[in-house]
Amino acid sequence: MMVNNRPTPLPHLAGFSQRDGQWYAENIPLASLAKDYGTPLYIYSKRAITEAYQAYDRACVDKNGQRRARIHFAMKANSNLAILDCLKRFGAGFDLVSGGELARALAIGAEPASLVFAGVGKSAAEITAALKAGVKCINVESIPELQQINRIATALQCRAPISLRVNPDVDAQTHPYISTGLKDNKFGIAYHEVLKTYREAALLPQIDVIGIDCHIGSQITTTAPYLDAVDKVLDLVVQLKKEGVVIRHLDLGGGLGISYGTETPPDITEFTNTLLNHVAERGFAHLDVILEPGRSLVGNAGVLLTRVEYLKPGAEKNFCIVDTAMTELMRPALYEAYHAIVPIQEKELTPQTYDVVGPVCESGDWLGRDRSLAIEEGDYLAILSAGAYGFVMSSNYNTRARPAEIMVDGDKAYVVRDREHVNDLFAGERTLP
Ligand SMILES: *Cc1c(COP(=O)(O)O)cnc(C)c1O
Repeated sequence: MMVNNRPTPLPHLAGFSQRDGQWYAENIPLASLAKDYGTPLYIYSKRAITEAYQAYDRACVDKNGQRRARIHFAMKANSNLAILDCLKRFGAGFDLVSGGELARALAIGAEPASLVFAGVGKSAAEITAALKAGVKCINVESIPELQQINRIATALQCRAPISLRVNPDVDAQTHPYISTGLKDNKFGIAYHEVLKTYREAALLPQIDVIGIDCHIGSQITTTAPYLDAVDKVLDLVVQLKKEGVVIRHLDLGGGLGISYGTETPPDITEFTNTLLNHVAERGFAHLDVILEPGRSLVGNAGVLLTRVEYLKPGAEKNFCIVDTAMTELMRPALYEAYHAIVPIQEKELTPQTYDVVGPVCESGDWLGRDRSLAIEEGDYLAILSAGAYGFVMSSNYNTRARPAEIMVDGDKAYVVRDREHVNDLFAGERTLP
């Protein structure tokens, strides 16, 4: 049997820490949260979200106190209302990818002018809702979509503010499922067709061209692909100006990566400064810049707490079977993503190597492989870096009720979403008469 004595690589965490052999969310031991609220349980740290937001915001204001960029949180990363409300109070806007997300943003009282609406397949109903709400901008990904928006705006007798999402054809050097800026991705308008598409947009009577947009992928851990994308997008802005199309804002998307344990992404403030300085050096300081971070604001602000149900020794592998599954955290099954997994209380036991797996009937249902853990049945584990693309990707497969979500602020814990009840999962179903 393969034995792994390597220590678990840990991310740097602002809101979670280990003291005297115990893990804490800010000032609250995770053990007491497990006892009070049960598992599986998502736990978010307000402090961690605050620090990540401030790291961006510091770079968004120049030396003279002039704002040169705005943060629109990509809420698909984590759309819990408490998180949205927290970011709204800091001054963030939002990046939406569905009518459902628009409803969430409106539910927390976000200013419509702080919303940008992205997505490759917006339905007529979604476009109608966005125009009625008065969003700042719709980011358009094809000519048929542009024509659809024009038709709907005509019917509503309003004008539609749009930008085109450019596919800059740069390699973000990330996982193929989360790379979006390459020629063969479904996203955006092919680079060589952008000028033509802007010309068409300019001819549509109800369309107001206001910006240009790109988003090259997710979990990107170097700055270089962003600088390439900025250069290619600014080249277009220059050409558009010659043709009389005035671009007012430059939306550079999101995608900055976080450390899940082994990566070393750039510091948020330095990264943002580099990007914004580059835009200014090329002579575009007058453009309003929009950044749409998702993962880097919330990814390391959340953990998923789980209980060890059974330790199952095997000839090839030992299994640690926990009460959390791919239904609560899909990233390992979907991308073979690594999440650090730690016992929330240190024990004087000899560590064993385990595959940490859930109870769902799929071989893809694993959370961590070959992990060295000193644990017994009934112990609790924290799956780290679970604040982004965690709860939002959860499902009810195997008729599993989704977990509660808690936000910790100092020494207070708030339930920000109730645990689902099994009966609610089939309450809308009917048998035949
Ligand atoms: C997903 C997405 C983002 C955020 O990506 P992160 O990797 O979470 O920062 C931003 N903009 C658009 C258009 C997206 O689809």
